[in-house]
Amino acid sequence: MSLLEVSGLSKTYTTRFGGAKVEALKSVTFSVESGEYVAVMGESGSGKTTLLNLLAALDRPTGGTVLLGGQNLAEIPEERAAAFRRDHLGFVFQDFSLLDTFSLEDNILLPLVLQGKSRCEMKSRLVPLADRLGISGLLKKYPYEVSGGQKQRAAVARALITRPQVLFADEPTGALDSGSTEELLRLFGTVNGAGQTIVMVTHSVRAASCAGRVLFLRDGAV
Ligand code: ADP
Ligand code: MG
Repeated sequence: MSLLEVSGLSKTYTTRFGGAKVEALKSVTFSVESGEYVAVMGESGSGKTTLLNLLAALDRPTGGTVLLGGQNLAEIPEERAAAFRRDHLGFVFQDFSLLDTFSLEDNILLPLVLQGKSRCEMKSRLVPLADRLGISGLLKKYPYEVSGGQKQRAAVARALITRPQVLFADEPTGALDSGSTEELLRLFGTVNGAGQTIVMVTHSVRAASCAGRVLFLRDGAV
């Protein structure tokens, strides 16, 4: 069985007053093996973010199923969904989503704090990870004191510190200059080389070309 199995996944948005319907995804089927690096490419509006939200149990599909490690996401009770995401999935977003009032270190450790891990366990995970990501010297700094590329590396550290089954990224290079983009893509390559499964959605040909496999999404279909 594959790590991630998506079958017949569809999502139709209905506007609040029952009027127009948008078929954002139409029966999407694919699977991702453990250790793969997959890019999902498509133009703006093709359904990339919708797909990622469904894969990450952030939203419910209109039809079809998502199995992650054999677990049907639709069967996870609403009150368990946040903990499931925190314990099994990592996220990197275009806008970094770091907390401005926390140092980079506290941002990175936050998922472990929520898991109730010991201070000692946190340190033993943080030190080698920060070293690998080249941010050891920046841990006491605040997000507004570092560059976009450095913020995104801190966001990657926060995503990886829980050792997620899948790292999901939504346009991770979207807000980066070309130098930082290349750095981040190199970093994703290294992280994948160490065995991390990655699913990245992007409209960038350059970013997609770094993945092991590319799925093209057009008008809600692969
Ligand atoms: P992408 O990330 O590829 O740009 P999206 O998944 O954000 O695409 O959007 C796919 C389609 O679904 C678009 O037509 C968009 O307008 C529509 N859509 C996305 N989110 C919603 C929503 N919450 N309500 C209604 N329509 C939506
Ligand atoms: Mg999007």
